[in-house]
Amino acid sequence: MDITLSGDLFERMISHARSVLPQEACGFLIGTGSHASRFQAMANSLASATAYEIDPALLAAAFRSLRETGEELIGIVHSHPSGPAEPSERDRRQAFYPQAAHLIISLADPERPQVRGYRIIDGEAYEIECRIVI
Ligand SMILES: [Zn+2]
Repeated sequence: MDITLSGDLFERMISHARSVLPQEACGFLIGTGSHASRFQAMANSLASATAYEIDPALLAAAFRSLRETGEELIGIVHSHPSGPAEPSERDRRQAFYPQAAHLIISLADPERPQVRGYRIIDGEAYEIECRIVI
């Protein structure tokens, strides 16, 4: 399943990723079906430049609020401050929510941030299309 998001949402994800440099950023794309309507930045509890983790308590709270609003977790977003927009081995091993897409923002070229999306199932990554609509 591909993902559709607005240019505005795209900019928000990029600016969040830039704001936490040199650490990896992470957050959720939330919406319904394949259409993302908002981005929720989450703290990287590892505070690392090469890995991310979302605190389990924050994760549980985020899922609770989604149940209340009836929205869905469409994608888990994280950034690679200096690497390519491709899942690392750790990303593939730690993809605990196969129903959600994984979006990776590469800031390796600061002028041209890149976003690519994947489904990660049983440690295998399959690229999907991320459509940006203006
Ligand atoms: Zn990664």
